[in-house]
Amino acid sequence: MSADPFSNPIFVERRIFLEQSQFWSRRQQDEYQLNSLRRLVRHAHARVPAYGRAMAAAGFGPDDIVTLADLKRFPIIDKRAIQADPDAFLADNADRATLRHRTTGGSTGTPLTIWYDDDFLARDKACTNHYMETFGLDVFNWRSVRLYGDKLAPEILAENRYWRVEDGRKLVMSCYHITAETAPAYVAEINAFAPRYIHTRPSSILPLAKYILQDGLEIRPIRTIACDGEYLTDGQRTMIERAFQARLINIFGHTEACAAGFPCQHSDALHFLPQVGIVELLDEQGRDVTEPGGRGEMVVTGFNNPTMPLIRYRTGDIGYLGDSQDCPCGRHYKILKGVEGRFQDFVIDAAGHPTPLAPAVFNYNDMDWKGIREFRVIQEQAGALTILIQPEAELAADDPAVVKALLERRIGAILAGFHIEVQLVDDIPRTRIGKHRYLDQRMDLRGIVTFE
Ligand SMILES: [Zn+2]
Repeated sequence: MSADPFSNPIFVERRIFLEQSQFWSRRQQDEYQLNSLRRLVRHAHARVPAYGRAMAAAGFGPDDIVTLADLKRFPIIDKRAIQADPDAFLADNADRATLRHRTTGGSTGTPLTIWYDDDFLARDKACTNHYMETFGLDVFNWRSVRLYGDKLAPEILAENRYWRVEDGRKLVMSCYHITAETAPAYVAEINAFAPRYIHTRPSSILPLAKYILQDGLEIRPIRTIACDGEYLTDGQRTMIERAFQARLINIFGHTEACAAGFPCQHSDALHFLPQVGIVELLDEQGRDVTEPGGRGEMVVTGFNNPTMPLIRYRTGDIGYLGDSQDCPCGRHYKILKGVEGRFQDFVIDAAGHPTPLAPAVFNYNDMDWKGIREFRVIQEQAGALTILIQPEAELAADDPAVVKALLERRIGAILAGFHIEVQLVDDIPRTRIGKHRYLDQRMDLRGIVTFE
């Protein structure tokens, strides 16, 4: 359907722009953000019905966006608002037939489909490439390991191999088969492959780190481990860094691609790229958190996806403002010292091994959430998962037995070590604390998974 994003001229252009703008003064940054916001609002007003209506209701137009603070005239939206009327959030000149899409589960268990074009993908890839370059990683030429939640073909698994090599320089490993028994083979394979970095998620690499330390497995030091997609505790960071003798770079990125944050040579705090969008950190009254270390909800406005612009979109993540907004690296980006709300969750297979759930259900390469409005995974005993699924109207209209079998097959193909039972429901009840969590883990995981 579409060209390779790396050969899109926008990829190169964007890569150079990110490099050249990274040390802008605050004034230059603000100017850039204001211009980008005004352009976005003009487009959204003219082309995206949901925003046209919201602006009319609030009584302002594109010309009323004069300062960055005027962003606050927009109401805050969340996934549910978009799900209620997805077409209204698409630009009226967008054609789904020619677009790409990906679905996000998010920590709240409410999937959402994000539509975008090739140029957006090129800008998104340029951003990933930029932070990899910041850490001196050459993603186009270096050998690397990807331990990220990819599903391996049954023929490979049948031979008791849990990895495959891509493009001659990328070792793609399954994160669902790491046990005390298989860990030595994983380590031997990594040692033989001699990667220069590993790209992973905290929950995917943690079990391997644990076996390396616990069983004294000898792994050749790897300079860098790039992690994203989940919250990471200090204890987990230490464990991973010790096991691999590496610096762990924990990156904030989300499927919606409205915000991208990465650490720097001087600090593990997340520096959010002003070129990608505006990150607001709001307290319970909806005011900006200004106190160093203060806690707030992340609300983002992305500049890069005119197909489906998100203005003041609630990510569901809770962040902590950096202790300082001045970093010795010289970037004047918004700095958060950490983000929570994406706790990696584990489920326990029949043999008692912890298996990361997030990469299985939120890996949009393998898992297709189309037709699913909300879901929740419940585990009461090892090796078995009950998945409550609230289908969208079109799927709900099909034969329930067929839908149930389809979903069990889809999910079972990824989580092969589990007995999976799908229950179709009309509504997913909130948990006791009123929050939506995608995993209701009822087993006691103390001693099985390290949370500290
Ligand atoms: Zn810095």
